[in-house]
Amino acid sequence: MEWLRWPDGFVCPGCGHAGGWRIADGRFKCSACGERTSPTAGTIFDRTRTPLTVWFTACWLFASQKDGISALSLKRQLEIGSYQTAWAMLHRLRSVLVRPGRERLTGEVEVDESYFGGEEPGLAGGRAKGKKVLVGIAVERTEPKGFGRCRMAPLPDASGDSLRAFLIDNVEPGARVITDGWQAYPPATKNLYAHEPLPGASGAQASTMLPGVHKVASLAKRWLLGTHQGSVDAAHLPGYLNEFVFRFNRRRSRSRGLVFYRVLELAANHDPVRYRDLIANPRPGTGPRRPPGTRGRPPSMERATGGRPWRATELNSG
Ligand SMILES: [Zn+2]
Repeated sequence: MEWLRWPDGFVCPGCGHAGGWRIADGRFKCSACGERTSPTAGTIFDRTRTPLTVWFTACWLFASQKDGISALSLKRQLEIGSYQTAWAMLHRLRSVLVRPGRERLTGEVEVDESYFGGEEPGLAGGRAKGKKVLVGIAVERTEPKGFGRCRMAPLPDASGDSLRAFLIDNVEPGARVITDGWQAYPPATKNLYAHEPLPGASGAQASTMLPGVHKVASLAKRWLLGTHQGSVDAAHLPGYLNEFVFRFNRRRSRSRGLVFYRVLELAANHDPVRYRDLIANPRPGTGPRRPPGTRGRPPSMERATGGRPWRATELNSG
């Protein structure tokens, strides 16, 4: 943790001074202002009661396995006390994967939308109808064949404005955007992208004319139904999509160790994520969501602290 956070040596987060020493409880004391800082303070491991060795093992399973790991498997493998704790650990790891300012897709990019979900397991009477979520998908084409990186994000609808916002977030202006004949794509791409509509590409034809997005969509859906048994609600779908994209875009990485290192590095440099932010529902109009299986309030170890800023003296006090 020290190495990931302060690769060039301790820097005080309070005053910015570089230099200090380690004290008996594992914290660092700034040699300028005297403030004491834990290596985990201000990271996603801030104030956690889960041992860092458990966190690192969870991170290894998350990063190194081809399909990641479900909360239930993590709970069993690491003998974590509750399902919610395992669930929250994985969501904290998912939340660090999107680096601000990451490079957008370039070159020739296939873009399409697809519905995810629509069934929720475990309800009375077997499977009941759940909510479908429209997801925007963009995939780079590579020469002479094959695919590069992908991006996915939920869309409020398939309008020109929504698709334009998705494109601006994920595709570098100037790229060649290949779509089907849907009427919203010309306004969505206007003055920003070179648009190449494939007029006949809809329904069954689309899978051959836009093979990249259809491959990514089917892989992602299979992963959600397989590894996660379809137990993904609309509010948390973005986190799962980010995890899928992160892994897909590193599918040719030869070293799993490097992927593990990258996740830890992102986690050590990411602000704390409160439990209430994990369960917060980003969609207006419906109530707050809880992780599947949760009853009542979250366990105290994961409870949010009411938004008041932490002080170094409070760390490790439990
Ligand atoms: Zn200081």
